[in-house]
Amino acid sequence: MIKTRFAPSPTGLLHVGGLRTALYSYLFARQNKGEFVLRIEDTDQKRYVEGAVENLLRTLKWFGIEYDEGPYFQSKRTEIYKKHAEALLEKGHAYKCFCTEERLTKMREDQIAKKRAPMYDRACLKLTPEEIEKKISAEEPFVIRQKMPSGGTIKFKDLVRGDMEFDPKTVDDQVLIKSDGFPTYHLANVVDDHLMGITHVIRGEEWLPSTPKHIALYNAFGWNPPTFAHLPLLLNPDKTKLSKRQGDVAAEDYMIKGYLKEAIINFIALLGWNPGTTEEFFSLEDLIKKFSIERVQKAGAVFNLEKLDWLNGHYLRSKTPEDLAKLILPRLQTKWFEETAFADIEEKNFDDPDEKTIYFLKAVKTIQTRLKTLAEAPDMLKFFLIEEPPFDLALLLNEKMKVDKETATKALEESKKDLATLTEFTLQQVQETLTGTIKRLGLKNGQVLWPLRVALTGEQYSPGTFEVIESLGKERTMKRIDLCLDKLQ
Ligand code: GLU
Repeated sequence: MIKTRFAPSPTGLLHVGGLRTALYSYLFARQNKGEFVLRIEDTDQKRYVEGAVENLLRTLKWFGIEYDEGPYFQSKRTEIYKKHAEALLEKGHAYKCFCTEERLTKMREDQIAKKRAPMYDRACLKLTPEEIEKKISAEEPFVIRQKMPSGGTIKFKDLVRGDMEFDPKTVDDQVLIKSDGFPTYHLANVVDDHLMGITHVIRGEEWLPSTPKHIALYNAFGWNPPTFAHLPLLLNPDKTKLSKRQGDVAAEDYMIKGYLKEAIINFIALLGWNPGTTEEFFSLEDLIKKFSIERVQKAGAVFNLEKLDWLNGHYLRSKTPEDLAKLILPRLQTKWFEETAFADIEEKNFDDPDEKTIYFLKAVKTIQTRLKTLAEAPDMLKFFLIEEPPFDLALLLNEKMKVDKETATKALEESKKDLATLTEFTLQQVQETLTGTIKRLGLKNGQVLWPLRVALTGEQYSPGTFEVIESLGKERTMKRIDLCLDKLQ
């Protein structure tokens, strides 16, 4: 059975690259009817960040990336790693190293000065059993290092990168157990992947240099290594490595900003994978069917936020007004909203909407095509929901459009008169009526539609005048025009 895992270290908020690794590992397991494991690699206590595990679990859940096993925590499994390191000591594949930090630093500096790659010089490999005993009795701190094989080659086939080969002489005698008794990432990672029966290790390319070390460990234990697939780097549009400096990198940032999970999943899935067709929209279900590791590219994948915006627009527009309203409601918990007549609207009202709810849903529908992210929704809905839009004379009068006080007053009065005759308030009727008003007054479109829109919304930007009128309905439209005319006096 195929078994994959996601093995993040809780060193901060889940990065979009981490989310992609989790997604691909999940998709690969699901499409092969296999299992997906979550393992928290938290043995490096120094790098532990408070709240990182909670963020991780919350984020995976939000995206619907469900694991079948775990979460395992490596910090609770330290005895297992110690036992395995001792087994390697016994087999002669590992040794104790008592070198101090100062000695190692000096050694490295000397090697760099001689233009050699810094590597442990195996000083402690020459210690006799008696010398080792003495140091241990004197309670000298030590680490356990792996003794790398001196000959042969380290080979593996990467599902993305093809055949890989490394000379073991270039691989350092890596530390397996640190002086505090904790395992290093390498040891814990290999032991767990083996014990948990992981068949496919799918992870970011930054781990490629660690893979020869891991293969050497599998060999030392006498275990079969899993199959590896290293995913391409994520790049900024200028082809540098994706970094915080050029935008958000935490998956949660995009959730907060109001991108839909469907859009983010679709976007992330295409960062390094393509379907080989012109298809662009993929749900999680589609991806389980269509994703293939063979189509993952080697070259870095550019993180193009315009594409995310575009996908988000697509998914926002494909929602029903009810579903969209459900997503917007939690973002409306603001002071101004609490003071409106709509403050008590709840999700359950959408199933059997009363008049107030119908109006609310209509407002949502009206902003739907213009909405780029959910975060914009409250501001865009505000003028619909507050009782009285703000009166802004400077905005209402518009020199460029030739709207002075007199024109504005006339436009409002005449529009009101004509709209009052309507029995139905459809978009078409509103439009035909106001077109007639404009003609009759001999004014330009903007001279009527601008003051009207500002009177009704109090906003510089909003959906078009006809749409606004249709959505507000007759009563609200009349009332708002009157209010504005009063203030214009
Ligand atoms: N703990 C490593 C990380 O934080 C895991 C790398 C791997 O998947 O082996 O990404």
